[in-house]
Amino acid sequence: MTILAPALVAALLATASAPQVRILNRRVERNQVLATALRSAGLDGVQTDRVVGALQGVFDFRKSRVGDQLRLVLRDGELEHLDYRQSPVDEWQVRRDGERYVASKREIEVETQVSRVELEVQSSLYDAALTAGEDPTIAMALADVFAWDIDFYVDVRKGDHVRCLVEKVLSKGRLLRYGEVLAAEYRGESVGTKRVFRWQLPDGEWSYFQEDGTSARKAFLKSPLKFAHVTSRFGMRFHPVLEYLKAHQGVDYAAAVGTPVWSVADGTVTVAGNTGAGGNTVCVRHRNGFETCYLHLSSYGAGVRSGSRIAQKQIIGYSGNTGRTTGPHLHFAMKRNGAFVNPLNQRFPRNEPVPPTLLARFREAVNPIAASLDTPSLATVTRPGH
Ligand SMILES: [Zn+2]
Repeated sequence: MTILAPALVAALLATASAPQVRILNRRVERNQVLATALRSAGLDGVQTDRVVGALQGVFDFRKSRVGDQLRLVLRDGELEHLDYRQSPVDEWQVRRDGERYVASKREIEVETQVSRVELEVQSSLYDAALTAGEDPTIAMALADVFAWDIDFYVDVRKGDHVRCLVEKVLSKGRLLRYGEVLAAEYRGESVGTKRVFRWQLPDGEWSYFQEDGTSARKAFLKSPLKFAHVTSRFGMRFHPVLEYLKAHQGVDYAAAVGTPVWSVADGTVTVAGNTGAGGNTVCVRHRNGFETCYLHLSSYGAGVRSGSRIAQKQIIGYSGNTGRTTGPHLHFAMKRNGAFVNPLNQRFPRNEPVPPTLLARFREAVNPIAASLDTPSLATVTRPGH
């Protein structure tokens, strides 16, 4: 007969009764909802129902998306804890409390910091952002702010210089997203120097103005292509070619299929359909006798149909290769009072400037911002909340 030492007996007993803890990381797959994702992670129907029931009050299940992350902690096959994560700021947790489960949304602390960002273009604005250690979405934000003066597919040159003051929304020091661009300067070989400042008008509306109080905005945008990071089978880099062809009566932009096309001005859709040689076409009638047309689209923007009201910068479709083409491109045409005009030659007036009576107030607000824009050493400002 073997006699086990008491210490060994205790150790064996402890091993036998030690709960088995498993941690599973899963994602919501295509054609799955949260419940099916939980079942496929091994939860039985009863537990799944309890978890879903607990979440009902704090989570809107219609917002469940493919790719949402699940982290399950199972103890002896029973769910102990679930983290359900959609984004760094949208996270829910479910924990076991006896026989039931309790769910809550996790409070994530975010803070907004104003940062000065400086970019030097070598190949593209997108790459310049990456080189500077920024998220490339900063390029989109900047293109949006300068959209009335700069065509970011066409006007950007090697050596162009950009600097801006931009809000960064952070969580534990990590960038979640950019907030507003407070001020920005673009110095370019082709476009010269443009400086814009965000300022709130007395009616509460925020807008962008140049340093002298003139508006950064115009009735028409510089480009019919919204600057975007486009991945397509043609590769991610753009080789923009634009050509005004008189016989053709429009401008051709070589653009990867799927590049977002936005309306250059407010207006009403007059055509949204296939026009044969023009392929999928959208035409928009604007004020003062102007009309713009966008041809060879791969698809239409949401809610774009004949008669619909369109706002400047609204996506009317995505560039493509439909109709009679020799390659993917956007054909952009502009008419004034029924006759074709060259959109590249049009000079559109700026929107209303800062009212003269408010110029002093405007300068007072903008001067320190301009100083921060020009001086790298000025410290960043951090404030809580978003
Ligand atoms: Zn064309």
